[in-house]
Amino acid sequence: QDMASHDPLTQVLNARAYYQACDKLILQSQRSQQAFSVLFVDLDHFKAINDTYGHEAGDEVLRVVASTLSAQIRGSDVLGRIGGEEFSVFLPNTPLEGAMTVAEGLRQAIQGCRPRVGETVLTITASIGVASRSPTLNTMQAIQRRADEAMYDAKRAGRNRVSSLQ
Ligand code: GH3
Ligand code: MG
Ligand code: MG
Repeated sequence: QDMASHDPLTQVLNARAYYQACDKLILQSQRSQQAFSVLFVDLDHFKAINDTYGHEAGDEVLRVVASTLSAQIRGSDVLGRIGGEEFSVFLPNTPLEGAMTVAEGLRQAIQGCRPRVGETVLTITASIGVASRSPTLNTMQAIQRRADEAMYDAKRAGRNRVSSLQ
């Protein structure tokens, strides 16, 4: 069961298990009318890490970033690897303003994690999109899509930043 739900490289939840966990929490939050938010974290220029230092180094960066995110979030938050260099965080009981603060903390933690590749110490940055449940944005699919769009907005604005489109 652990192998079916966790990404073998980073040990965080895989996409399927992440969305399953989110669906469960959304049902709970609907019952209690609680706010929740979703963060979409995409590493900046990650292809260049692979191209410059090799795929093994890229893998190590993904492991370090995943454990950095894991260490920074609360026990009640959910972290998943939803794509190659893409992570998502579900924040129960968290409205937009609080989620922006969490996202900024994660952005700084990623910039500060400095993974080592042999003798070289790398600096990794990420662009983070934030979206929260609102009266007009009330399904996981719609909220995740908005977080994804906000992440692209952060890329366009210069990367290594947090953005929301709400
Ligand atoms: P951007 O700042 O626009 O996001 O640029 P990017 O280079 O991060 O984005 P792009 O989508 O061009 O490249 C993502 C790269 O992530 C390409 C792919 O080879 C690499 N990747 C995906 N999964 C893995 C993995 O498991 N290990 C390693 N080492 N690389 C991976
Ligand atoms: Mg990507
Ligand atoms: Mg990327």
